[in-house]
Amino acid sequence: MKRILVLGATGSIGTSGLDVIENNPSRFKLVGLSAHKNLDKLKQTAAKFNCNNYCLSGLDSGDFLHGEEGLKKLIETSDCDIVLNGIAGAAGLLPSITALNCGKDLALANKETIVMAGYLVKELAKKNNCRILPVDSEHSAVFNLIEKYGKEYVDSIVLTASGGAFRNTPKEQLASVTVKDALKHPTWNMGPKITIDSASLANKGLEVIEAVRLFDVDADHVDVVIHPQSLIHSLIRTKDGVLYAQISIPDMRHPILSAFTWPEYVPNHLEVFDIAQCGEMTFKKPRYDDFRMLPLAREAAKKSGRYTIAYNAANEEAVAAFIKEKIKFTDIPIVTEQVLQADWTKEPADFDEVFAADNLARQKASDFISGEFC
Ligand code: MG
Repeated sequence: MKRILVLGATGSIGTSGLDVIENNPSRFKLVGLSAHKNLDKLKQTAAKFNCNNYCLSGLDSGDFLHGEEGLKKLIETSDCDIVLNGIAGAAGLLPSITALNCGKDLALANKETIVMAGYLVKELAKKNNCRILPVDSEHSAVFNLIEKYGKEYVDSIVLTASGGAFRNTPKEQLASVTVKDALKHPTWNMGPKITIDSASLANKGLEVIEAVRLFDVDADHVDVVIHPQSLIHSLIRTKDGVLYAQISIPDMRHPILSAFTWPEYVPNHLEVFDIAQCGEMTFKKPRYDDFRMLPLAREAAKKSGRYTIAYNAANEEAVAAFIKEKIKFTDIPIVTEQVLQADWTKEPADFDEVFAADNLARQKASDFISGEFC
């Protein structure tokens, strides 16, 4: 029986994780949960699982665990084997650090943890003898493939991308797309930030960085292919030039279950994929010139230092401004590129320096947005 703590329990990853726990009661037990703002849903879920150990991280006061400190305490005091981190954005880094500091295995859906502090987080995991099990569907696929085929035989990684809401939108129309348009994701039903990131390909950019850091490969050995059906979750190319793919129905419960059961593969409640029924699988090259967030991420990953922190922070600020209709969709890469012009070469020595770089990049992004666009 694995005891699981679910962070971000009311979000799309959290609810999928809870479904996996609920449907496999002989394997998993929920021992704690957190949400950011949705107290009603948090309390309902806690009652359903008969689990009184919860925290509302976005609340300043209350007669239960709350705020950033409450979340830290929840992680430190929960008797669990695995922490599922489904918190969105840079806010997910600190809980990841806390979990690893406590020697807990981390089922990681929060890609920012790796994008912002990949080296430091991996070092911490190694020091405390815990595992980082990727839950991002692409990285879960790559992780499983690399583990099975052997890292020494892997030449490169191919990440698949749905292409997002604007994959068929002509370049000249991209400047006038609305927030509502950007929130229509073709495959996945996720939170607003990640859905907009999918539309701009910033999500795939973050995933390129995540793959580079997580699997310790050169950025030039991480390729991206648009695969609108999202059936192949990613591929590896072995040194003999052959590709190996992971295929299933697009359902986040698969990578979550995989992280929970690793290194085992177990029968489960999820729908089995019938390849004869799937219809077409198609692939094409991303439009790098029209979706600049992707090449900008690759450049940031190559430069290392604090560039990936700056990339993530600038994008988060730009997306927030786009949601508030302060900037256009096509301004997101302009803001990011501007922030990346600064000197971010110094590698962060510790987590404090990571958070300082994150703050600085956000400041630069918001100054640029108010100076240039408002
Ligand atoms: Mg993904």
